Amino acid sequence: MASSAKDNNSRSVKRVAVVGAGVSGLAAAYKLKSHGLDVTVFEAEGRAGGRLRTVSRDGLVWDEGANTMTENEAEVKSLIDALGLQEKQQYPLSQHKRYIVKNGMPLLVPANPAALLKSKLLSAQSKIRVIFEPFMWKRSDSSTVCDENSEESVSRFFERHFGKEVVDYLIDPFVGGTSAADPESLSMRHSFPELWNLEKRFGSIIGGALQSNLFGKRDKTGETKDAPRKSKHQRGSFSFQGGMQTLTDTLCKELGKDNLKLNAKVLTLAYSHNGSSPSENWSITCASNLTTQDVDAVIMTAPLGNVKDIQITKRGTPFTLNFFPEVTYLPLSVLITTFKKENVKRPLEGFGVLVPSKEEQNGFKTLGTLFSSMMFPDRAPSDLHLYTTFIGGTRNRELAQASTDELKKIVTSDLRKLLGAEGEPTFVNHFYWSKGFPLYGHNYGLVLEAIDKMEKGLPGFFYAGNHRGGLSVGRAIASGCKAADLVISYLNNASDNTVADK
Ligand SMILES: Cc1cc2nc3c(=O)[nH]c(=O)nc-3n(C[C@H](O)[C@H](O)[C@H](O)COP(=O)(O)OP(=O)(O)OC[C@H]3O[C@@H](n4cnc5c(N)ncnc54)[C@H](O)[C@@H]3O)c2cc1C
Repeated sequence: MASSAKDNNSRSVKRVAVVGAGVSGLAAAYKLKSHGLDVTVFEAEGRAGGRLRTVSRDGLVWDEGANTMTENEAEVKSLIDALGLQEKQQYPLSQHKRYIVKNGMPLLVPANPAALLKSKLLSAQSKIRVIFEPFMWKRSDSSTVCDENSEESVSRFFERHFGKEVVDYLIDPFVGGTSAADPESLSMRHSFPELWNLEKRFGSIIGGALQSNLFGKRDKTGETKDAPRKSKHQRGSFSFQGGMQTLTDTLCKELGKDNLKLNAKVLTLAYSHNGSSPSENWSITCASNLTTQDVDAVIMTAPLGNVKDIQITKRGTPFTLNFFPEVTYLPLSVLITTFKKENVKRPLEGFGVLVPSKEEQNGFKTLGTLFSSMMFPDRAPSDLHLYTTFIGGTRNRELAQASTDELKKIVTSDLRKLLGAEGEPTFVNHFYWSKGFPLYGHNYGLVLEAIDKMEKGLPGFFYAGNHRGGLSVGRAIASGCKAADLVISYLNNASDNTVADK
């Protein structure tokens, strides 16, 4: 039982420090607090939420970081239930209508095989390759292919299965829109581990997805097995009333002010266990008045680039992280614009539009645009369309850093071509992420090995967040919850050993 971390220890409640108040750190801290542990979250910035960042101004509500999330991870559903946030979940209108640009025109992404056959997004040849993929990829060919290609790129993997056009017009815009990366730079194994494993098990990705639980298995009655509380929204994206930050704001409220230290950048971490005292092995110093706090365990959720700046010592000796390979970060600008509805001549209903790199030849420079007020009509007055556009990533690192004026011109030009948005936007807001996403590149296996090595070298130290196990909000939450579970069992073991030692 988790509560024994508290009960078994007659001295005091165990104390845990969580570094970083992004969604992973807050989810970890909430779980630890729910288990009766004394938790303090240290956050470098003056606000909590990390890459969940909502702004409400002049009757508009927009997100400058993550815009939606999914409930694919069990930890997400549990967290939302525990926080009582089901009532505030907001599902986008027409969320399954998503568009990709081809030859300058936004085309609906086919949502089923019949729609694929009719779609102009792919040529007849590519459609045939997609339809016949389950027959062409047999399990016997696959195991060798996978092992040989363990560091294979996302583009090479999908090209083998479906051909180049599928990579150019489905995979490239998808990875650009979800990770700001390009399919050539991304490692298949680390970016899409489920699909990578499907190939290993089944050969065919489509056949494998149908046979495995990826789409849920049907029993004799036709019901889906292993799918508790199946709803019409299952696997769909959602936000919250008031934007994504509602989630992290609620977590902060539940944690309480005393458990969250803002403007408290962690500068040093010292592990000092000497064999006699089993508790408060860690000393943590942060920028806020250079205060030091002693704790029993640490969950680190700061990006790895920031962790390297923290001075870590183990029994007085520097614990240098020079075994870490360089992590590449992708810069990204987010432009929020509004246009008078009467000035948008060809508005599209749905979630948003993604722009493949190939469409740069047709003058497009953005990665994609979310139709924010189409999805969530309460995010803007009824006479306005609110759009959220992303620029930069591996496709155009320099442009990510361009001035608001230059980006406004680029976004206005792309939206004019795509939606017939005429004239100037009535409102513009620009947010720049210098390190928007870590790149799960070809050396990412070495990064994960280095995280393991760091944890093994530092007892009671656990790493979580979007540098491990996935970039999405859901994955970051799952990672934080898993780290909390590891801390709980670590502290329980420490308590048990203390009792045994006595
Ligand atoms: C523009 C953008 C759009 C996105 N859109 C989506 C989307 O629609 N859907 C989706 O699922 N995902 C999306 N993501 C990804 C998702 O938002 C992130 O992966 C996730 O929020 C990461 O959470 P985290 O807690 O791991 O890290 P972070 O949110 O980065 O939190 C880490 C925290 O650590 C703090 N910190 C750093 N150093 C220190 C230190 N020394 N001491 C104390 N604190 C420190 C930082 O200030 C930060 O608050 C998007 C990301 C970006 C940038």
